[in-house]
Amino acid sequence: MNAKIMVTIILTALLNLLCAVFITDTAARGIAAVTISVVGIGLIIVFLAKPIYDMKMRLRKVQQENDELERMRSEFVSNVTHELKTPLTSISGFVETLQNGAIEDPEIRTKFIDIIAIETDRLKRLIDDVLVLSNIENEIDVPSEQIDVGASIDTVMEMMMPIAESKGIELINEVESGLTVSGDSDRFRQLFMNLVENAIKYSDEGGRVWITGYMSDGHLQMAVSDEGIGIEPENIDKIFMRFYRVDKSRSNKVGGTGLGLSIVKHIASLFGAAITVDSKVGKGSTFYVTFPEPKK
Ligand code: ADP
Repeated sequence: MNAKIMVTIILTALLNLLCAVFITDTAARGIAAVTISVVGIGLIIVFLAKPIYDMKMRLRKVQQENDELERMRSEFVSNVTHELKTPLTSISGFVETLQNGAIEDPEIRTKFIDIIAIETDRLKRLIDDVLVLSNIENEIDVPSEQIDVGASIDTVMEMMMPIAESKGIELINEVESGLTVSGDSDRFRQLFMNLVENAIKYSDEGGRVWITGYMSDGHLQMAVSDEGIGIEPENIDKIFMRFYRVDKSRSNKVGGTGLGLSIVKHIASLFGAAITVDSKVGKGSTFYVTFPEPKK
């Protein structure tokens, strides 16, 4: 119990006792006892009001946070539904047209089947990204291991090589050897895969993409740079929001889902890493990932 309330109760009882002992006149003793009790109870109410008010305020804050989470959750569900609906509507439209006779024309048939394959791929990528995001958000016990940064980035480069080659983009690995960081190695790879994939996707044919890694003031500093289309300053903060694309049609054309950088941001926060972007429209972008100093 609150110390002030305890002291008030003890003082009230003590003063009442003193009145009973020292005031002989019954009427005066009654008035004194009532006055002391009223003042005591009044003080207790005042002392109780503050913690009750604080608790009410805390509850209100929790309620507001819950409402905000609920709003974000339902916004996410409606965004996902909308994003799923677009390719599905397109697939069912082309299937219906084929069923209604277009299947007889070999040229149209090939064209429509190609579109259906592209839309099916888009659906698959979207579902994969939603699953990755949900796994990251729900993962409570994140495995922590000593990650060999060089080996991890070599794997990222290997996996990204086919899409880089298809656009004639040179991938340059400038990660110093012997670097390590602690955390989940799958997530680490996923983070850089998304950044390198974007660097390739938002570059024109024949560009270069670098990945660098070195120690700076006790921190692991990583960066992914490209010579691509760049990002306008007013869009830099927005690109990490779920489903935000600067140019939706370009993102769709290169197989984007609008979730890649949300995943990057989430993984970075699991590592306690900060992300900053330096970009010039028409010149290229660099995404810096600064990891915290290892715990001693
Ligand atoms: P998407 O699946 O559309 O690529 P992301 O979340 O990965 O979604 O990226 C969000 C948006 O940020 C992209 O649609 C694109 O407009 C922009 N963006 C991301 N990386 C780059 C980059 N390296 N260069 C230029 N724009 C980029």
